[in-house]
Amino acid sequence: MAVHCDILQTPVEFLKGVGPKRAEVLQKEFGIFTFKDLLYYFPYRHIDKSHIYNVSDIVEDGGYVQLKGRITGAQVVGQQRAKRLVAQFSDTTGSIDLVWFNGIAWVQDLLTKKQEFIIFGKPTIFNGRWNMTHPEMVDPNTQSDSPVPMRFMPLYNTSDKAKRKTLDSKAIAKLTAHLLPLVRDVIPETLPDTFRQRLGLMSLKEALCNIHYPEDSQRLSHAVLRLKFEELFFLQLKMLMLKQINTQRIPGHRFSKVGDYFNSFYRDHLPFELTNAQKRVIKEIRTDVGSGHQMNRLLQGDVGSGKTIIALFSMLIAKDNQFQSCMMAPTEILATQHYEKISKQVAPLGLRVEFLSGSTKTAKRRQIHEGLQNGDVDILIGTHALIEDDVVFKNLGLVVIDEQHRFGVEQRAKLWRKSAIPPHILVMTATPIPRTLAMTLYGDLDISVIDELPQGRKPIITKHLYEENRLQLFGFMQRQIEQGRQVFMVYPLIKESEKADLLDLQAGYEAVERAFPPPKYGIGVVHGKMKAEDKEFEMQRFAKNQTQILLSTTVIEVGIDIPNATVMVIENAERFGLSQLHQLRGRVGRGGNQSYCILMSKYELTSEGRKRLNAMVSTNDGFEIANFDLQLRGPGDIQGTQQSGMLDFRIADLSKDEKLVSYTRNLAIEILEDDPNLDKPENLRLKTKVSELIHSEVNWSVIS
Ligand code: ADP
Ligand code: MG
Repeated sequence: MAVHCDILQTPVEFLKGVGPKRAEVLQKEFGIFTFKDLLYYFPYRHIDKSHIYNVSDIVEDGGYVQLKGRITGAQVVGQQRAKRLVAQFSDTTGSIDLVWFNGIAWVQDLLTKKQEFIIFGKPTIFNGRWNMTHPEMVDPNTQSDSPVPMRFMPLYNTSDKAKRKTLDSKAIAKLTAHLLPLVRDVIPETLPDTFRQRLGLMSLKEALCNIHYPEDSQRLSHAVLRLKFEELFFLQLKMLMLKQINTQRIPGHRFSKVGDYFNSFYRDHLPFELTNAQKRVIKEIRTDVGSGHQMNRLLQGDVGSGKTIIALFSMLIAKDNQFQSCMMAPTEILATQHYEKISKQVAPLGLRVEFLSGSTKTAKRRQIHEGLQNGDVDILIGTHALIEDDVVFKNLGLVVIDEQHRFGVEQRAKLWRKSAIPPHILVMTATPIPRTLAMTLYGDLDISVIDELPQGRKPIITKHLYEENRLQLFGFMQRQIEQGRQVFMVYPLIKESEKADLLDLQAGYEAVERAFPPPKYGIGVVHGKMKAEDKEFEMQRFAKNQTQILLSTTVIEVGIDIPNATVMVIENAERFGLSQLHQLRGRVGRGGNQSYCILMSKYELTSEGRKRLNAMVSTNDGFEIANFDLQLRGPGDIQGTQQSGMLDFRIADLSKDEKLVSYTRNLAIEILEDDPNLDKPENLRLKTKVSELIHSEVNWSVIS
C-alpha cells in the first residue's frame, strides 16, 4: 500500500515527456504537482471518432462531428487579414462550408490533389450556413491502413499560457497516455467490494482509466458515474461524520425549560397567529437547545416568511434559562429595524434590549458593555460591532445571525469564542438554497425550513416593462400613491464607489421629480455613500409615509419591513442577479394590499438576462428562483457559496446531479446508522478515505 501511494505521489516532472520546464507550467497553470494530480485532471469531454455523421444530422451546439464526403469547390475570399479559403464540402445529404484562415496555399494544393475526405471539426452557423473552420482532414482511402488510434479522444482544458508553452489539449493527452500504464495497478479502491458491487459501480481503477481513454461509450458513462459518486458520496459521508462529531463532542448550554417570558409573550403579546411552519421550527429549536449539545441550525425561509419572530422566541427561551442572547444583522438599517421592532415587542416583558453598531457613541457604548458584563442586558442587537473583542457577555447563550451569507466564516468564529461553552447558533437566511446545495454546503448543520407564508398575503404581481413604457409606469405609480401606497425604486450598484451608478440614481431622481413634483409628493433618496444618520433619517421619513417614493441603491436589499409599500420598481433589472431580484421583490407584499414588482429593462437583453427576468415574472417562489439560478449560473455563483471553495468538484455538477446528491446522502446516512464510527471491518476503506478528507482541510465546519 505504501509503495502504491509513492508512485502516485511522484512529482510530475519525472513523467516521460514532462521535465522541469513543463512541470512548472503544469503546476502553475493547473495545480498539477504529482502523478496523482495528473490522473485526476479529467478531460472535459471526448471526441467520438468512431461515428460518421451525415451533414443533414448536424445540430446547433452538437459539438464535434466527423463527416465523409467530397470537396465540390473552393475560393479565396476577403482581403488581407480577412483573407480566407472557403471550400464546399458535400455528402449525399447536404453541404457545409470549410474555412481556413491560415495555411491557405497548402490547403489549396491539397484540394487540387484530392477531393474525397473524412473531415473532423466543430460546425457552427455563419450567415445561415453550416461552417467548419480548420477541420482535420483525412483521406478515407488511407484511413483503413492507419486507423485513427483511439476512438474517443480526450479533450483537456488548457490555458493560453500553457498553450504557448506547447501544453495544449493534445499534449496533455499524450501525458495521460504515458501515465496510465504506470499507475493503473496501484490505484487503491476506496469502496468496500460488496458495497460497490451491490451498487453496480465500476472500480476506481477502471473508472480513472476510462475517464481518460474510454474503451467504449458505455464504459465512459460508467466511469463518469463512478467518479461523480466518489466525490459526492465521500463528501456526504464526511459532512455527516462531522455533524456527528459536533453533536457528540461539543457540549452546549442546556436550556431545560420554556418559562414565563416565552409563555406570556406567546399568550398575551403575539400580534398574530403563528403559521404551522413557524410552530414546527420553534419546536425544532426547543428540542435542540434543550439537548445539552450545541445547536448549529440554519433557518431557511423565503422573504417575508416570518423568521424574525422565530429569532425572538428563541431569545426568550434563552432568557427563560437566565442566558443572554445577541442578534447580528449585516447592515445598520436592518439591525436598527430589528432593534426597534423587538424592543417594542418585548417592552411589556421588562427585558433590557440594547443596540450596538459602529456609530454607537462612546458613552453609550461603555454603558452597554457594562450591562453585558454584569448581565443586565438581555438581548443585544446590532451589526458587525457585536463581534469586536471588547464586547464581553456575562453568559451568552444564543447567537442569531440574520442574512447569513454576508458574514464570513471568521466573523462567525469570533462570536463563537465569546464564551467557554459555545453559544447556540441560529443562522437565518432568506436566500433559499436548493436542496442539493444545502445538503452539500450545510450538510453538517441542521436545517429548518419555513415553507409557508403567513395567511392573507396576496402573491406579488411581477411585470417586465421596457424603457418605452416609462409613462405607463409613472401612471401606475401615481394611482398607487393616490390610494395611499408607497413605492420603492431601486437602481443597480455595481460598486459603491462608482460614480456612474450614482449618476444613474441622480438622473432617475430628476425624472421622478418632474413626474411627481413636490410638495404634493415626497421623494426620498438613500444610497451607500450617505452617512448612517442621513440614511436612517430618509428611511424613517419613508417608514412614516412622509415620503411616498424612495429611490435607492441596493442598500434596502435585505430585511426592511415597510408594509405600506406596495410597488417595487427595479431599474436596469437585467443587471441584477436572480436572487437579488427576488430579495428586492420581497420588500413589498408585506401588508394586506396587493403588491407589484416592476422590472424595468432596455429592449436588447442577453438571453441569460431575459431568462432571469422571465423567471421572476413566472414565479414568486424563492426555492424555484434558487433552482433557476442554479441552472443558469451553476452552483459556484450562487450567493453565499463563492468563498466556500466547497463546490470545487472535479466532475460532479450540483445543478445536474441532484438525484445523485440525494442518493449518496441517503447511502451515507444508512451506513452511519449501522456503523456510526465506521469501525466495522467491512467499512475500513470508507474510514480510511473519510479520515483523509477530514484531516486534509481546515476544519471550518465547527465554526459555522
Ligand atoms: P423575514 O422572514 O423576511 O425576515 P419577517 O420576519 O420580517 O420576514 O416578517 C415579515 C412580516 O410578516 C413582518 O411584518 C412580521 O411581523 C409578519 N409576520 C410574521 N409572522 C407572521 C404570521 N404568522 N402572521 C402574520 N404576519 C406575520
Ligand atoms: Mg428578515
